[in-house]
Amino acid sequence: MFQIVKMQPGDRTSELARLGMRIRSKGDEFHMEQPCPALKERCCTIYAQRPTRCRLFHCQQLRLIEADETTEASALDLIRQTQAQAAQVRELIERCGLREDGQPLIERFERLMSTPVDENLEPELVVLRAELDGAMRRLRLVINREFRPPPLSH
Ligand code: SF4
Repeated sequence: MFQIVKMQPGDRTSELARLGMRIRSKGDEFHMEQPCPALKERCCTIYAQRPTRCRLFHCQQLRLIEADETTEASALDLIRQTQAQAAQVRELIERCGLREDGQPLIERFERLMSTPVDENLEPELVVLRAELDGAMRRLRLVINREFRPPPLSH
């Protein structure tokens, strides 16, 4: 669901690039494109070399575990359910005609939904897109509610 990971001072961009990460620049800032090639079978394969933003990111479920407000088993259960929701969105995107191209899910969804569809010529596609729209809305809701860290209070 994330599109980029911003590089921070001290991040070794050339080492990350050598490890296969897609490092890009915009102005004088660098970022790492997502989805991350280091993520394999739900594990970070460059854990010791991961960038600062990855080190600092504690999702809401991890925070709840640390505060003894949920258990690891419940968090893993929720992760599995959310992955199933993401897989459903991926499948619906393909059924709507957009093949997997390695781009972030959110980007593919937006690209697909921004192309016009004629409801007289392709009524089934209109139904599929409505299904996809609902599935993506539910996925975003669960990610925002259960995984994104709460905004910082000042
Ligand atoms: S934690 Fe690892 S797998 Fe995840 S985005 Fe960072 S480098 Fe990639």
